[in-house]
Amino acid sequence: MWWGSAGFVIGTILGSFVKVLADRSLNNRSFWGRSYCPKCKHQLHWYDLIPIVSYINLTGRCRYCNKKIGSEYILVEVVMGVLVGFLFWQSSSNFQFSILNFQSILNFQFSIFLLELVLKTFFVVILLALFITDFKKMLIPDRIIIPSIVLGIIANLLLVFLKTGYLYFYLSQNIIGKFLLPPHSDYFRRHALMIAEPFLYSVVLAMAIGGFFLSLIIITKGRGMGGGDVKLGIFLGLMLGFPQAVLAMVLAFIIGAVFSIFLILLKKKRWGQIIAFGPFLVLGSFITLFWGNQILEWYLHILLPAT
Ligand SMILES: [Zn+2]
Repeated sequence: MWWGSAGFVIGTILGSFVKVLADRSLNNRSFWGRSYCPKCKHQLHWYDLIPIVSYINLTGRCRYCNKKIGSEYILVEVVMGVLVGFLFWQSSSNFQFSILNFQSILNFQFSIFLLELVLKTFFVVILLALFITDFKKMLIPDRIIIPSIVLGIIANLLLVFLKTGYLYFYLSQNIIGKFLLPPHSDYFRRHALMIAEPFLYSVVLAMAIGGFFLSLIIITKGRGMGGGDVKLGIFLGLMLGFPQAVLAMVLAFIIGAVFSIFLILLKKKRWGQIIAFGPFLVLGSFITLFWGNQILEWYLHILLPAT
């Protein structure tokens, strides 16, 4: 439980970061530099920037000009706290397992656990920032999505190296294992390939999703989607892999369709009018990140009831 609470606290801090990413992209401001009040431009101190606490303490107003600073700040902090808290809570059994085998911070199992958790948290940060920018201004900024794709590739590669390194280390530690290493056997090489396989699948899938969105843009002459959705599709293909990314896409289309029908019925939108697709991709990805494996298992049970 404390592990989930730790996730909540980390999430609220990251929430302020998400808000900075989204706001500064939309206002074309540098990501660097200290925060200031959008109304009076007074520079903010650390005690003005404590997630949730500062907002409640100052009753949603700026300490210096007393103007309202908008509930979006606390909303993003709370949402991020819940999302990351949930992520940590879900990982707690893995956490206990890796702690059980903990010898040093350089321990392979713990490093793999930590990197996987950091990668998922990073995914949540970027997704929520893009949700905000696309929802508010129908924009998926290049300065967020392109570095994220690059970072995603590097981190996933690192994970493959760590896991292969762990396998090598594990085998070299015992007498029988030594005979599974080259040049005695091709066991290690085969298993190293098996570790790398999901990453290769996710790269191929990422390109397939990007290509699919690109063809949709060409067919609909850019009325349904934009170039930002192509890059977001590549990013989530890379981060979720196969078959989870496919599930995220299917969910995005279903949620998007239901939501559009509602808007048309409520006469908020007309048929054929454009709404941003990014937020649905983000929602589909969140559901997949948290419950993807359960949904896929359930779906396979319907397809193959005997097994
Ligand atoms: Zn102010």
